[in-house]
Amino acid sequence: MGNIYTNMKIFQFKEKIDSLTQSDARIMAPLHIRIKPTNVCSHKCSYCAYRSDRLQLGKDMFTGDYIPREKMMEIMDDVIEMGVKAVTFSGGGDPFYYPYLLETVKKLTGSPVRFASLTNGSGLHGEIAEVFAQHATWLRVSIDGWDDRSYSQYRQVPEGEFTRVMANMENFSKLDGKCFLGVSLVIDELNAPEVYGFIERLKGIGVNSVKVSPCIVSNDCAENDLYHEPFYKQVREQVDRAVTELKDENFEIYDSYHAMNDKFQKEYTWCPYLQILPIIGADQNIYSCQDKAYNLDEGLIGSIKDQRFKDFWFSDKNKFFNINPSMVCNHHCVSNIKNNIVLDYLNADPEHAGFV
Ligand code: SF4
Repeated sequence: MGNIYTNMKIFQFKEKIDSLTQSDARIMAPLHIRIKPTNVCSHKCSYCAYRSDRLQLGKDMFTGDYIPREKMMEIMDDVIEMGVKAVTFSGGGDPFYYPYLLETVKKLTGSPVRFASLTNGSGLHGEIAEVFAQHATWLRVSIDGWDDRSYSQYRQVPEGEFTRVMANMENFSKLDGKCFLGVSLVIDELNAPEVYGFIERLKGIGVNSVKVSPCIVSNDCAENDLYHEPFYKQVREQVDRAVTELKDENFEIYDSYHAMNDKFQKEYTWCPYLQILPIIGADQNIYSCQDKAYNLDEGLIGSIKDQRFKDFWFSDKNKFFNINPSMVCNHHCVSNIKNNIVLDYLNADPEHAGFV
């Protein structure tokens, strides 16, 4: 298997990169779209970024919103017709609680559009699990607690839910489909001592990959680093040990647990990734990215309530340049490194380009 997490994937789509600037008249389809089918979720995670008052993310989210069935089918038709490469279903809420998810992904199974989903894993059983196992590219289950008691504490769910989710993942891995099963392990002060042991257990039930990342507690970089500082070394040692002892050709560890200054500060004035990986929210609004979803003041690009997604996307390129990251994005941004790489490429002086 090749490198599945590299920031350089975008360079497989050079025509798209070249089309991004305001001076280029072309508007090309997004490569990847994150769709939030519903904001409904059966878990109440204590750190959920969408529900935290301390984070700008999700500040205008209405928890009852979901994309109507007819609109979702229209979006699926559009993404197939537009030539979008990939769709990821994510929260707001849990995509597996969206009543039309099965119908939605079945529309994609016969198309060239790849799909994936994030989920809490609670609804990962039955026909939807089988369709994902056979047809999805990847599925990532977010987990924090390491046993029934801690999991219930994190999520305000009845004890036994952790055992069910672990069983769902183990059964899913036994379906033996092509879908890459991952876990997102969000680290905070409670689960910090448990990291190595839990990764080992996840490998044992057939999970293909674990992404380890820090819990984001503030829009401010220094405050996040300060929060993680007391247990940072303890976690780092365990992640390093897991990479050394557990990682192999069938088990990937995506180590995203590190100091965060490369994800906050921005000096650029337009965002390339906004045209590469936009968000369709459960409120039928289009947002710039997963770090500004449900932020109507700073992340909104437009609405598809009364128009098709493809008509919205291919009209007036100026809408992609209304967000100035140096002014409004100095919070956590998962695309910051990738934006810098793309801008560095686009800013290369053609007169000097040959002097590689
Ligand atoms: S710079 Fe980052 S946070 Fe700002 S719009 Fe772009 S992807 Fe989103």
